[in-house]
Amino acid sequence: YCGFVAIVGRPNVGKSTLLNKLLGQKVSITSRKPQTTRHRILGIDTQGAYQTVFVDTPGLHIEEKRAINRLMNRAATSSLGDVEMVVFVVDGTQWTDDDEMVLNKLRHVRCPVVLAVNKVDNIKDKEVLLPHLQWLAQKGNFAEILPISATKGTNVDKIREMARQLL
Ligand code: GDP
Ligand code: MG
Repeated sequence: YCGFVAIVGRPNVGKSTLLNKLLGQKVSITSRKPQTTRHRILGIDTQGAYQTVFVDTPGLHIEEKRAINRLMNRAATSSLGDVEMVVFVVDGTQWTDDDEMVLNKLRHVRCPVVLAVNKVDNIKDKEVLLPHLQWLAQKGNFAEILPISATKGTNVDKIREMARQLL
């Protein structure tokens, strides 16, 4: 059994950190600087007979004036065509116009979209997190909404499990 999972989101939300955590090793470069990932990076998680290929996409950008941004947008959207699941990563502490743009691109995707609300380790007040998750829930038709911390590994197993269930 083999399935593809695309990890998408605007730059700096923690996609590469999540991929590394999913695979338990550092295969994708993470950085404070946006646009560190310029090409698609594939990671394969093998558990017995199940193999999940995770695709770390470059961030999607609204600004298409620069050629590099145009190229990165194309690389990111072209990986959405033939996947079993999309993990839409957002930063739980801020929602931006770029997130809105990624969300709009995902409206055309047929496979389940899991919303991974990352960096929840930065949200100390859980009474802030819950209403924010509810606000995010009404923005799209998500198969699941998971508060995660890619650095700490919180709920990263749930993403792996969801991917396996869909194969
Ligand atoms: P990408 O551009 O979406 O691939 O984002 P990166 O994985 O490169 O991460 C961008 C920045 O966010 C880095 O400084 C990461 O260390 C940080 N980061 C990623 N995940 C988390 C998280 O769960 N919690 C916190 N506090 N920071 C995170
Ligand atoms: Mg990256």
